[in-house]
Amino acid sequence: MSTRDTRTALVIGGGIAGPIAAMALQQAGIEATVFEAYTGTADGKGGGMTIAPNGQDALDAVGLGELLRPLGVPMTGIVMQDWAGRRLAEFGNPPGVPPMQLVWRADLYTTLYGETERRGIRIEHGKRLVDAVDTADGVTAHFADGTTATADILIGADGIRSTVRTLIDPDAPGPSYAGLISFGAQVQGSTTPSTRSKMNMSFGKQAFLGYQVLDDASAIWFVNLPHPEAVSAAETKQTPSEEWLRLLSSKFADDRTPARELIGRTAPEDLIVVGPVENMPPRVPVWSRGRMVLVGDSAHAPSSSSGQGASLSIESAVELARCLRDLPHQEAFAAYEQLRRPRVERVIRETTHKNSAKAAGPAGRVVFAMMMRLFGRINKPEKMAWVFDHRIDWNAPVTA
Ligand SMILES: Cc1cc2nc3c(=O)[nH]c(=O)nc-3n(C[C@H](O)[C@H](O)[C@H](O)COP(=O)(O)OP(=O)(O)OC[C@H]3O[C@@H](n4cnc5c(N)ncnc54)[C@H](O)[C@@H]3O)c2cc1C
Repeated sequence: MSTRDTRTALVIGGGIAGPIAAMALQQAGIEATVFEAYTGTADGKGGGMTIAPNGQDALDAVGLGELLRPLGVPMTGIVMQDWAGRRLAEFGNPPGVPPMQLVWRADLYTTLYGETERRGIRIEHGKRLVDAVDTADGVTAHFADGTTATADILIGADGIRSTVRTLIDPDAPGPSYAGLISFGAQVQGSTTPSTRSKMNMSFGKQAFLGYQVLDDASAIWFVNLPHPEAVSAAETKQTPSEEWLRLLSSKFADDRTPARELIGRTAPEDLIVVGPVENMPPRVPVWSRGRMVLVGDSAHAPSSSSGQGASLSIESAVELARCLRDLPHQEAFAAYEQLRRPRVERVIRETTHKNSAKAAGPAGRVVFAMMMRLFGRINKPEKMAWVFDHRIDWNAPVTA
């Protein structure tokens, strides 16, 4: 019988997959260190995001569910609307599964980092990986500051623009601009009625709005603004927030949704300019080579509208650790890919249409509204149960 051979791991990237992979590895008896490119905390300023029931289950497998769930606000469904606020379709949770949790990304990062450190796992900041050398005995990471680190394996949890993905496969595909810039904010004292735990998504005449108003009159909103010319995250941050807020408000002038109320209530310092939305091709052909392997968005990034990116990343981080617990690294990487690839690629396939609809012109939006009405009639929540109902049995042994 083959036995495990991994005692130490370098985890590149301190986003969501990285710290969770490190904690899952610790639970599997493997010592991991996280290396994050940013000097402060990771790039955590990114608005609200959902942790789906499948992501919550994966968090439970490493004892994080009870810590992270209270950060969220339950989200029991999604109502799709047109520019006039008319309901196009509604998607509820499949019966019997817990609600999605809507969390503020900054809260998630703060809690995740605190817990990683509380468990005695080192997170090193200002460590941008630039190269890695794989030998028979181990793998050495080279960072932009000239330092190095060596361990048995290296895990690329470095996101959609992954360096590790290119080190594993120089021909690996990269992300492409989706034609949208994303913004978000949290506001207090909204006069819009509570959306009763549902996220409303409105295909406006000129931009896409998502909003959820809570019973205490606080609200979160996000906007996807069509912007055909490609733009970098740094460029979007150069425009003052006041200017963005004025522009966003003008884009919703003809819509009959709460967009202008919510945007008008947003102080410039509270506006989060998330930046350009990027799409990955559905398939990253190579997930591992030698002692290096990918986890999270570097291997499988669904559309940002899918609400599944973080949850799939958490699932993969836990499953990778489970495989390394029971198998030598090469067999573990193969078992991990076999476990994960069919599921993540199916989720990606079934959710990619959403960004293209948001970036569509007026004619495209009319067609999309018709499709939504039809889809809303034929689509039953049970059809999505396979996405949400995924369970990880941490104690089940993994075989090659
Ligand atoms: C606008 C938007 C909205 C979204 N909404 C949702 C949602 O509602 N629900 C959901 O589930 N998902 C959502 N997602 C997707 C979700 O954010 C990602 O799937 C998730 O963050 C992936 O986690 P990760 O750890 O793989 O990558 P990331 O969170 O991107 O983390 C990667 C980390 O690696 C670091 N890094 C990069 N390169 C290097 C390097 N060379 N060396 C060292 N460190 C490096 C980065 O600084 C970063 O901290 C959304 C995404 C976007 C863009």
